[in-house]
Formats: sequence, structure tokens, C-alpha cells
Amino acid sequence: MRGERMSLYAQVIVDVPTMQTNKPYTYLVPSELEEQIQAGMRCVVPFGKGSRKIQGFVLDVSNQKPDEDFEIKKIISLMDFVPVLNEEALQLADWMANYTFSFKISCLQTMLPNVMRAGYEKSIRLLDENVEPEIKKLFDQNNLLAFDDKMDAKIRRKIYGLRKKDKVEIVYHVNDRARVKETEFIKSKITAENISAFLNAQRKTATKKKRMLEKLLDLGNDSVERIKFQKQNSFTSNDVKQAENSGWLSLVSKETYRNPSENATTESSSPRKLTAEQNVCVTRINQAIEQEESDVFLLQGVTGSGKTEVYLQTIAHALKLSKKALMLVPEISLTPQMVRRVKGRFGPKVAMLHSALSDGERFDEWRRIERGEAQVVVGARSAVFAPLDRIGIIIMDEEHETSYKQDEMPRYNAREVAIWRGKHHHCPVVLGSATPSLESRARGQKSVYQRLLLTKRINGRPMPHVELVDMREALKSAPSPDFSAELLTKIKEHLKRDEQVVLMLNRRGYSSFVMCRECGFVLKCPNCDISLTLHMDTHSMKCHYCGHEESIPRICPSCRSNKIRYYGTGTQKVEEQLHELLPNARVLRMDVDTTRRKGAHERLLERFGRHEADILLGTQMIAKGLDFPDVTLVGVLNADTALGLPDFRSSEKTFQLLTQVSGRAGRADKNGEVVIQTFNKEHYAIQFACTQEYERFYAYEMQLRHRLGYPPYYFTIKITASYDNEADACRKMYEIRRELSQVLSKSAKILGPTPKAIMRVNNRYYYQIVIEYKKEPRLEEYLQDLLVRSQTDEPKGLKLIIDRDPISFM
Ligand code: ADP
Ligand code: ZN
Ligand code: ZN
Repeated sequence: MRGERMSLYAQVIVDVPTMQTNKPYTYLVPSELEEQIQAGMRCVVPFGKGSRKIQGFVLDVSNQKPDEDFEIKKIISLMDFVPVLNEEALQLADWMANYTFSFKISCLQTMLPNVMRAGYEKSIRLLDENVEPEIKKLFDQNNLLAFDDKMDAKIRRKIYGLRKKDKVEIVYHVNDRARVKETEFIKSKITAENISAFLNAQRKTATKKKRMLEKLLDLGNDSVERIKFQKQNSFTSNDVKQAENSGWLSLVSKETYRNPSENATTESSSPRKLTAEQNVCVTRINQAIEQEESDVFLLQGVTGSGKTEVYLQTIAHALKLSKKALMLVPEISLTPQMVRRVKGRFGPKVAMLHSALSDGERFDEWRRIERGEAQVVVGARSAVFAPLDRIGIIIMDEEHETSYKQDEMPRYNAREVAIWRGKHHHCPVVLGSATPSLESRARGQKSVYQRLLLTKRINGRPMPHVELVDMREALKSAPSPDFSAELLTKIKEHLKRDEQVVLMLNRRGYSSFVMCRECGFVLKCPNCDISLTLHMDTHSMKCHYCGHEESIPRICPSCRSNKIRYYGTGTQKVEEQLHELLPNARVLRMDVDTTRRKGAHERLLERFGRHEADILLGTQMIAKGLDFPDVTLVGVLNADTALGLPDFRSSEKTFQLLTQVSGRAGRADKNGEVVIQTFNKEHYAIQFACTQEYERFYAYEMQLRHRLGYPPYYFTIKITASYDNEADACRKMYEIRRELSQVLSKSAKILGPTPKAIMRVNNRYYYQIVIEYKKEPRLEEYLQDLLVRSQTDEPKGLKLIIDRDPISFM
């Protein structure tokens, strides 16, 4: 090139709200950054006419000069010294953006700890000082004023006015909130050789100084945390400062981690001798680890069958082969018990990622993983993106849990991401559950996944005995509205033996449907076999699936009783009933109200574990992760509420919940009992949960799904549009429906548009369409395009959501 320097160009995904695109923009790399820049780094770039500063991610760097003939802007700065996303993460973002109909920028950001995501600070700069004094005094000496949502509306209007007259301008700063924690350490300069000289120089009365010299001598070459040193020896920070001034010690700052489980006591635990069934599972999985096969295993094991031991021993095997392990558990099961079990086995090799961590703690755990200092990562949904290399095994416990699906963009399911990473790393993925999702179980049937079974509880413990109480009968002589005589008698028996009781109140579907308290009848849609939802705003019953609507019944269409009403109850009300029925019982209540504060959930469980209460009363959140030996009775107050929901998964979820909660009873050496109160004694989900027959439930439910054309027989995609007025939302969805009918083949079904269950939320109106299909080659491209196009209507108020494999149709 005859002495001419070749320019470098970077492909950058930029973060421009309302103008997102999955196509990168080309930027020129300024010569001073040429040596530093690498794919996977964050950068700050100018964008648009005003060249405002925004954050971007570098995807690629090359000499390739772009064809575009307009001016190419220059990267302003790099936010990282080393890439924060590696090649795998960049590829995963590509796949995820496509698969989940998301913008690439949101995929890239999702993979990073919160503190590293883009943070923008807007401020207003005063350009002309000739303004009202009231306004003038708001600006600092640099003529800047922070511009945020908290700004007073009146001031905001005035500022806008000034902006029109060009008296102020808006400036954007990209800020990086990721801060490394620094800790001060003391390094002693006192040695056996020099100490006497220092001691002799002290006055006789200076005992503290003499003590300081001795303690510093004791330190030798070790450095010690300043805070600890002060505390242990009762020195003040001033004492240390003086010692530094006298040349006795030096202070050094070192980067440290905020260790979230520093205070948690962990006893080491050794591997147990496997049962024959466990051994088969461990052997098969270990083989896949050794042979680097990306098999997906479905580990189907009844509650208490020792699935966790299988996880721990296969993880140990991966570590032995110098590989690493990723273990995902639902947020709610990340209890101190769980943490202790894993840390007890692998100690400091473990990094934990869950939402109870502060942003700083999360960031530190992330860096420990990224630097290869942790070999085992345990965490909830987003831990699936942990920056591990050399993964040897990925485990997902309770794989059926819907909390693995994120309900905002990117709408990924951690299960799919785990399987993608398994392929990338050539390692097995183990999906474990006592009640697998129908999708996974069906894939096991077709050998897409390999099934592994644990059919027996450890130590030959029997499955707990389950008794159904028909509330239609029981209410006639019930001691209180939510307790049958049968359940109350059982509670008293168990408490007398000084055992513990867990009571679950099913909050799902609270008050949203209508049920007859005489015969259990729930109003269903004539076309869809799905319950109708009560809409208080329109005083009608609606089907969310096909749009069918009818009036709220006054008498039960089935038994003519007038005891038909919305169903629902609250934990607080139940707690009051308990106090009246059993004044001496100590009750702990666990629900959203009592667990809002950080760590409250864990503290309640620990108190219950120490037997500081006799009864744990709670919502769904008590169903998982509990393993308390003294719990011998589990009561379910209302098994049915979820059955009334207009959702094709309501039976599946009811079955799963009842099976999980029943599994909490009798886990140690005492036999367990379960009492389930229900208005739908004959319902198959209740019946099969009672006998704990997952396989029969699966077979029955699959028939229904087949007949009705639901997943897993069909793929589903849900599109939701919302506006601040109903007409626009409705009109938009009819427009999309028209387009869809051009794109889709005859065999696909378009359901809707219908208003959502709760049509108006925060004064926005929601309409939805559900597409059911088997194979539609043109659908993906259409939806990608729809996503990008929808942004042009955003300024007019549209919010569009495209959700593949939606968790529910509500
Ligand atoms: P799951 O996860 O399937 O519900 P767990 O892994 O919690 O079951 O196991 C239930 C109990 O059995 C736990 O207390 C566990 O420590 C114990 N356990 C598991 N495997 C064995 C084994 N091979 N020998 C003895 N005890 C075991
Ligand atoms: Zn009735
Ligand atoms: Zn319907």
C-alpha cells in the first residue's frame, strides 16, 4: 500500500433505544486504540445526527473497508482492557437473538452482570447564562444539571422550553458502574534486627507503641488486612497511620472479592456410596463426560431418590478430568441447605450466582469465574451465561420450573441455552426432575433425550401416604372455612408427637375464576376446554384463547346451587384461623409479604429448621428445596386454584406442585403423610398426584394435548401488542393477523386477537395472538422483520412482544 497505513474497522452493535437493529454498524478504529481493541469489548461511540455518545459492543475487527460511502465515525473510547465477552458468548448472542426474537444488544447485555450493563446519565448543560435566576441556581459550577426521572415536572417543562431556544443542551455520559473492591493490607517493616532500635527510641510510657512494634514483628513477611489487624489488636486507624509515618509498616491496596458466603459455615461432606440405581446414572453420565458427548439426559427421579448425589458425583468426575461444571437450580431452591451441600463437597472451587447477592457480590463472583478461579458454578437462571471455559457437565435441577424462562427480552429459557452450551463444549447436559415438563418427557420418549430413572427413595423410605379430602363434603362440618376436620385432626396428632407440619396455600389463580363451592364446577369455554376468566371491568367471563365471552353465572350451570363465587383466600386469613383453632401452635408464615427483605426467605427456613416453630404456612415457595427431617405432615389447603386458570398447562402445573410439596413429607427416618383438600377430587391431575404416578399422568395429559393441538405436539408463539388505548392495540393485532395469514400455510392455526387476561395494566391495553404450527418456513423471517418494524410505532405508544414457547397463554 506504498507506505499508506491500513485502517482498522470495527463492527459494533450499538444501544440505541427505539432504533435497535441486529445489524452492526461500522466504525473506524482510531490509531491509538488499534493495539487494544478486540472483539467482545465494550466501547463508547458517537451515534446519529447529534453524535450523542452511546455504548456498543465490538463484534469484529478487520481491515475490510466497508462499501458504504457515507462518513464513517470513529470509536471514542474502549470501556474494557480485556474483552468481557468471549467468542462463545458472541456466538451465543447471535443464536439467542434469532431464536428468541430479541435485539442482539439485549442478549449481549443479559450475559453480563448488572453492573456492567449500560448505564446512561443524562445531564443538561446551560449554554446561555441569561436565564431566570431560579433556573440558573440549579446548575453546578460546570453549568451541568443531572437530568433524571425525579426532576420536578414544572422545571422539566421550563428546561424543554429553554432547549427549543437552544439555551441548553442534553449531554449523555455512558457510565461504567462496575467497580473493583480494593482492600488495604499492612506489610510490616519491623524485623528482629531493627526492632530494638525502634523500641529504645520510645518513652517508657508508650506501651501502645511498643505493642504495635511487637505485633508488627509477629507479622513477619505476611501481609494482613488492615481492618482485621486493627480489630484483633485494638488499634485505631490513627495508630496504624502513625506507624506508617514512622516507617514501621507500609499500606498496600489489593483487589479483593466481596465474598457472599464468607460467614456461612460449611462442613465438608464426602461422597456417599451410591445405590444401584444412582450408580447406573452416574456411570452413564461420566461416560459422556469422558467421551465429550453432548448428550442430553433426562434424570427422572422421585422426590428423595438422591438426584442431588448424582449431580455432585458427576461434577466431581468432571473436576477430576480438569473440566468445570455448571449447575442450575431454581432461584427458590437456592437455600442455605443447598449451598451447604455443594460447598461442603467442593469448597472454595464453588462460585454462587443468585439474586440475593448484591450487584457488587455478583460482579466479584463473575470475575472469579471468568479468571478461572472457580471450577463449579451454582446459580439460578442467568447463571447459565457464567463465563466458564472447559465445561465438562451442565446440570439443570427441577428442569420443569417455569422460572427458567425469562419474561422480558431476551425471552430465553435457560434449558435451551444450557443445551446450546452443551453442544458448544461437547459436554453432557443433565435435566433433573421428579415431574419433568411434558416437552422434556416427550423428547425422552423419542430418544432425543436419554432417560435415566431413579424410581426408589433412598433407604427404601416409602413415598408418603396421600389422603384426599373432598371439600364439597368436608365444608358442611368444617371447623373453619379453610380447614377440614380431617386435616385439623391430623395436624393435632403430629404436633402432639412434637413433629413439624408444612401447610401450603396455592395462590395461583387467586380470585380470577369462578367456581361452585357446592359441586366444584368451573366455567369452561365451549370451544377450547379451558376455563373462562372473570373480568371485573366488563363483568363477564372470557376465553383468552378464542375470544368467547359470556355473562357471569348467578347459579351453578351444573348443580343449580347459588354457592358459585370467585375462589381464593389469603395466607394472612389462614394464619388467623390457625391461631383460633390451635392457640398453642407456633406458626411461621412465608409468602411474598414476609419474604420481601433480602435474606428473609433463608432466615425463615433456618428458624423452621431449628424447630423454632411447629407449622410453616406458605405459598408455592415452600414446595421446593426443603429437606427437614422433623416434617412428617404436609397439608395442601386448596389444590384446585390453578386448575381454574385459562391455561393449557394448568393440569401439568397442579400435578407438579402437588407432587413436589408431597415430597417434603417424611424425608428422614420418619414416615410422611400428606393431606390434600380439593373441590375436584375426580380430576386426573389430583388423582395422579395423590398416587404419585407421573407416568400415568404423562400418558393421560399427552392424549389431551394431542386432541386439542397443544404443545408438545405443536410449536407455539405468542404475540402481544399494547397501547395506551384499546382501539389501537386491537387494530394493530388485526393488522398482524392479516399479515400472518399471508405468511402461514393452511395447517397453522392463528388464535385471536383476544384481550389478555388482565387487559389493562398500568393504563395500557394488551391484545394477543397465539400461533400454533408444525413447520412454517416463512414464519421466522416475518417475525424478525415485525420486531424491527414495530419500533417505528413505538413513539406512538406501541409495545410489541414476541414470545416463543410461551409459558402460558394468559
Ligand atoms: P432428591 O434431590 O432426589 O429429592 P436428595 O438428593 O435430596 O433427593 O436425597 C435425599 C436424601 O438422601 C438426602 O438427605 C441425601 O443426603 C440422601 N442420600 C442421597 N444419596 C444417598 C446415598 N447413596 N446413600 C445415603 N444417603 C443418600
Ligand atoms: Zn355446582
Ligand atoms: Zn375459547
